[in-house]
Amino acid sequence: MYKMLKVAFIGLGVMGYPMAGFLARAGHHVTVYNRTLSKAERWVSENEGVLAETPKQAAEGADVVFCCVGNDEDLRQVTVGSAGAFYGMKAGSVFVDHTTTSAEVARALYKEAKDKSFSFIDAPVSGGQAGAENGQLTIMCGGDQPVFETVFPVMECYARSIRLMGEVGSGQLTKMVNQICIAGVVQGLAEGLHFAKKAGLDGAAVVDVISKGAAQSWQMENRYQTMLEGHYDHGFAVDWMRKDLAICLDEAERTGTSLPLTALVDQFYKDVQNMKGGRWDTSSLLARLEAIAAI
Ligand code: NAP
Repeated sequence: MYKMLKVAFIGLGVMGYPMAGFLARAGHHVTVYNRTLSKAERWVSENEGVLAETPKQAAEGADVVFCCVGNDEDLRQVTVGSAGAFYGMKAGSVFVDHTTTSAEVARALYKEAKDKSFSFIDAPVSGGQAGAENGQLTIMCGGDQPVFETVFPVMECYARSIRLMGEVGSGQLTKMVNQICIAGVVQGLAEGLHFAKKAGLDGAAVVDVISKGAAQSWQMENRYQTMLEGHYDHGFAVDWMRKDLAICLDEAERTGTSLPLTALVDQFYKDVQNMKGGRWDTSSLLARLEAIAAI
């Protein structure tokens, strides 16, 4: 049994809001910060905890500060921007970032934190909105082992799997592998279902059969139904996926890695954005194929 801590959570979005709730229900003393104040007000009306008006104020006196905002720039703003959390962190505390960002920004903030006598762990998550709401996230971390060990039991309240992948940035690099793998799989599934429909097959029956064999995937099991129905108003947004794929392609450029399929699928997602599908689920690649077929 570990002692209850004073923690803060910055960014009460789709992911952060339920994650902060798990921390409060685990018995920690939680302070939340959200840019749009009304979300923080709603959170404190539904959970045990208090709200702060700036990231700096939220971080003051906290043992661990968690964060889940949008992208690199958002992370910079809430950490080293005006009234950023890094100006409120106490010596010996830990900043855990759950945002999906570049490895570069994680390395820069790790160094900045070290200079200010606290620690930084990059800890992007996988598992989507459902994983956050059910406390079943997969967390891939980068940073120093002793620091990781102190925050591991705290994160356990919203995770089913947590692993330190190596030095700072390794969590983000692992998340990039996750997104690279998903991109190809979703396009393959979209093409398979599109083909099945055009061939006059019953798409659901096809999936029932092939999902018991080598073609099975999380995307197939969890998305085939809504794809066949043409429903995309849920899940992980195309805009977020393009943000993530840009990070993957930038990193690949730096390391001289060839990612031809990832680059192609990224362009397909650009087409989906042009169809006004930026907020659609990533499985909307099927809508793109159907729109092309309809021309
Ligand atoms: P979201 O619902 O859009 O929430 C983003 C949060 O960040 C909001 O609280 C937003 O505040 C805050 N924020 C954004 N920019 C900010 C800034 N410049 N200053 C202060 N606060 C700022 O996003 P989400 O779905 O929770 O995703 C968060 C992160 O997790 C992203 O990096 C995403 O790629 C990653 N992720 C998401 C999923 C998923 O299924 N949604 C899965 C895995 C990973 P406001 O309320 O004021 O807008």
